[in-house]
Amino acid sequence: MMRALSTNPEDGEHPHALSRLQSSIAPDLRSYDYILIALSGGKDSVAALLHLLDQGADPARIELHHHDVDGRGPPTFDWPITAGYCRAISAAFGVPLYFSWRDGGLRREMLRDNEPTASVTFETTEGSLATFGGRGGPGTRLRFPQVTADLRLRWCSSVAKIDVMRSVICNSPRFLGKCALVVTGERAEESPARARYLTFEPHRTDTRGGTRRPRHVDHWRPIHGLEERQVWDLLRRHGVVPHVAYQLGFGRVSCMLCIFASPDQLATVRWMAPERFETIAVYERRFGCTVKRDAPIHAVADRGRPYPAALARPDLVQLAMSELWSPAIRTSPERWRLPAGAFGDAAGPG
Ligand code: SF4
Repeated sequence: MMRALSTNPEDGEHPHALSRLQSSIAPDLRSYDYILIALSGGKDSVAALLHLLDQGADPARIELHHHDVDGRGPPTFDWPITAGYCRAISAAFGVPLYFSWRDGGLRREMLRDNEPTASVTFETTEGSLATFGGRGGPGTRLRFPQVTADLRLRWCSSVAKIDVMRSVICNSPRFLGKCALVVTGERAEESPARARYLTFEPHRTDTRGGTRRPRHVDHWRPIHGLEERQVWDLLRRHGVVPHVAYQLGFGRVSCMLCIFASPDQLATVRWMAPERFETIAVYERRFGCTVKRDAPIHAVADRGRPYPAALARPDLVQLAMSELWSPAIRTSPERWRLPAGAFGDAAGPG
């Protein structure tokens, strides 16, 4: 059984016909017991939350889920401030935030040597931690995720995010016999691969109609048809201050050391966080294999230049490298400013 569909007025003139058709429908938000929003801290995941609130979603049914890509292990890939930014968003909108992670994060998976993939741990609604998995067959990676749209080779997204959300849902009895909606912020404009994503479909954890452990779980990508200017406009209308990385000049925010990072992004990270950058360079030498196919990470960074916005704002660099979001997270639409990274270099997963 699919949830009832209703017309979504926010969709406009998108170049992809399939996306336009898909984006013209939206689930009936009142029909879900739980609405789980995957909040990376990037503008699109924040926009997905704002879009749902605009659509009248009941905040009491909304919960934010942030997947910590470093998995509480040594800081390696992620922005130090991202968890703090997500906490600030949660507090500003009065919706709960739950953290979940692959134990040891991407670094542990990358260093897997004749071992199983690690377990997943997540915060429960009762305030405890639950851990599942980690008992699979042994395997070896000792290499970086591949820079490709193929999620089997670009394993970071599935190991640190997609499969973590799956584990949260499959191992939480509260979803049994209930209807849940998983909301993610992919947009068609980002890449041809993302343009092919469906806007609305059964989620991978859906077991509706089953006799054992049935649960109804849909997956909605509510801003799939939005253009970047519409995303920024959502943040402006709600007066939400974007993640500090955008203010430093980054056009896209997810992992600080994303495998898709452009030369300018890498040059900026090397300038801001040289030890972090060097961690990746050391692994390149150890694996005998570079992150980018054509050159070592230092050579790629040499091709770029640190963003002027970062060079000019040591206070923002300090915020990005801290764990507590101390500035205001909301302002008035009149005082809101488009960040330096808007409409810029948005290198990211295809
Ligand atoms: S942001 Fe980049 S490195 Fe991080 S999980 Fe996504 S594709 Fe992988």
